Amino acid sequence: MATPVTKQHILNCQFSNWYSLFRTLTPKAKVIKPIPTSILKYLDEDGIYLKNVSNTIEDVTDRENEEGREEEEEDTQVSSYYPDKSTIQLIERVISDLDGAVVPKLNWSSPKDAVWIMPTGSMKCTSAEDVLLILKSSDFVTHDLDYAFDDCIEEDNQEADSTSQRFPSDFSHELILKEWFPIHPSTEFRCFVKGKNLIAVCQRDDNYYDFLEHEMKEILPVLRDLTSKLSEFPDPNFVFDTYVQQNRAWLIDINPFFARTDGLLFSWEELYAMDYEKNSPEIRLIPKGAMPSSGGANFYTNRVPFDLVAASQGENLLEFAEKMQSLTSESTK
Ligand code: ATP
Ligand code: MG
Repeated sequence: MATPVTKQHILNCQFSNWYSLFRTLTPKAKVIKPIPTSILKYLDEDGIYLKNVSNTIEDVTDRENEEGREEEEEDTQVSSYYPDKSTIQLIERVISDLDGAVVPKLNWSSPKDAVWIMPTGSMKCTSAEDVLLILKSSDFVTHDLDYAFDDCIEEDNQEADSTSQRFPSDFSHELILKEWFPIHPSTEFRCFVKGKNLIAVCQRDDNYYDFLEHEMKEILPVLRDLTSKLSEFPDPNFVFDTYVQQNRAWLIDINPFFARTDGLLFSWEELYAMDYEKNSPEIRLIPKGAMPSSGGANFYTNRVPFDLVAASQGENLLEFAEKMQSLTSESTK
């Protein structure tokens, strides 16, 4: 049976909320809260807008004509909705403080459905332009912006609220920039906690790794140890993601204990039915002989439509963005 989720539980799982409790357990990150309004406005617009790419490169090489350059930059912006210069500088500063590469996310979601638009094919961002482009291209990020509290119940009247957004009055969106570091997906796990007890563990990656079969004996105590360090989390039920590296489990994220969080190798029916007093968590790994991931099939429903891919042939990103804008305006005539 699905247990209803409260707005408070969703709020507790916001990055800034759990990060303030567990800073020492998780890789370095910066929270920009509230998110600058120019970013919200940019994310809210239809289409993809880029600044003139060659102009940005000139900025670096030609520092002598600073004033003329600034005027030219204003003139050549593709969209008036591109975030302002101070916001860009703020993001650039944080990227530089975090050693030059970050993974962005909003309160709950990273743009992992939008890696197709990045030249690296990953969420690694080394510039403010990278950060803005990948956030803008992600449906998961849109979810955080518009639908985060859908299907929540009110603590007082216990009624599901799927019709109105109703963000809590003191709520604000946040931009998270996490320091990028190389992660090997074989030791990323999703851990399900019920009544503060670790009840289930599964791989996050969908490939088979033979070494995991024997190494789970050593990995499990590390996961239990991290679970006990999370006892301060305000809810008894939650789902955490972790990356295990050299006998240390890094906390990557905390997600709601609720069917909107992907149960991966478990169904939510199973998870809701599991006994929270069980002594040992159920562990599921991808079995030998399972179809290996093609490395590219994830989130295929969130990708760009085929006609836009066709329209992009041989174009650079700026030309593609301009073509997309003209296609969009033609289709709405
Ligand atoms: P989900 O929807 O599954 O809960 P999410 O949107 O909350 O995902 P994260 O769990 O924060 O996103 O990150 C998704 C993936 O991005 C991780 O599985 C990991 O592979 C990668 N990742 C996260 N943080 C970093 C980082 N700091 N450096 C490098 N890669 C990272
Ligand atoms: Mg998450």
